[in-house]
Amino acid sequence: MGEADDHLEGNARTRVGDRRLAATPQTALLAWYARSARDLPWRRTRDAYRILVSEVMLQQTQVDRVLPFYQRFLGAFPDEHALASAASDTLHRAWKGLGYPSRADRLQAACRAVIAGGTGWPSTVEGLLELPGIGPYTAGAVACFAFGRAVPVVDTNVARVYARRDGLALPLAREAIWNHVAEQLERQQPVPYNNALMDLGATVCTARNPRCGVCPWQSLCVSRGQSERLAATANPLKAVATRKTYGDAIADRNRPHQRIVLALVHHDGRYLVARRRQDQHQGGLWELPGGKREPGEDDRTALARELLEEVAGELLAARALMSFAHDYGDRYLTFHVYRCRLFNPAGLSARASTALAWVTPREFLALAFPPANAAIAERIKRYHRLA
Ligand code: SF4
Repeated sequence: MGEADDHLEGNARTRVGDRRLAATPQTALLAWYARSARDLPWRRTRDAYRILVSEVMLQQTQVDRVLPFYQRFLGAFPDEHALASAASDTLHRAWKGLGYPSRADRLQAACRAVIAGGTGWPSTVEGLLELPGIGPYTAGAVACFAFGRAVPVVDTNVARVYARRDGLALPLAREAIWNHVAEQLERQQPVPYNNALMDLGATVCTARNPRCGVCPWQSLCVSRGQSERLAATANPLKAVATRKTYGDAIADRNRPHQRIVLALVHHDGRYLVARRRQDQHQGGLWELPGGKREPGEDDRTALARELLEEVAGELLAARALMSFAHDYGDRYLTFHVYRCRLFNPAGLSARASTALAWVTPREFLALAFPPANAAIAERIKRYHRLA
């Protein structure tokens, strides 16, 4: 077996039988995993594309449901080239039944970006995060399972295991739990270790009725037998997420409201802004490209149309960022802002405004926007931690 195959583990291969390894929480978990690992098809490959497909499918969907789709999908789109060149209809037909079809678009956008980049799949978390539609969890999973990187992969199941075992204080901050898991990672065997954590959270340390009697960490666990603590940690990430609300509260649900989609387009550390024409209401102020969603459109279709009409931009990927309402007295406008990437960021033109500009986050905050957009500046300020 070559070195490159060391992190393949279709048979849950580990070194747990190696007497040189002292008994530690890590080896106890790996020994349990060697006996109990789920045999899943994406654990028999280290192909980044195939692993990414599995990770995207597993978002919001149970393993049992994903299994038949996964094999069929790979039959239709065996690699990133096949997926990148698929027609939207064909892709959505293949995804039908899995739900959340925007996941298929994100997957395709990532494949297209990899092909456009010409250097193959990035092998680091940072490189993977540059791809459209890939967040920290998926980037960690691909970096570990495809490239054997010793990085933490923390989903709700994994967070729950550690929150319970170590009696972590709630609320659990995302960064804190990632650091906590990273500190305890078995660095020599990150693939089986991360898979073992996931299996433990999915099959033993479950949200309800954990099976502590068969848990390899039962002797370490500070929550075992404490029903209140077990219930409070069922979903430790969701339980604690503190959300800041932006904009106006919708006090009167009977008042009409209009849905507006806005594109926060980013490229090379800058955001795209457009200046309103002087003959328009609030002329001279800056704004994000976007507009009203037309009947029959979903948000993504409306964004793609608005970007084409206003800045000659071709939408590559869109991810929901924030929503807020603005009260106009007789009606509400609800704004739905998406972080967007375009295929052609260097080739835009101002079709509906007097000027376009790419601005840094600080420059963004210095621009004059219509009052309804103040929430966006607030969000940018918070995101970039700008005073
Ligand atoms: S002993 Fe029970 S609560 Fe603690 S980690 Fe194991 S399964 Fe979870």
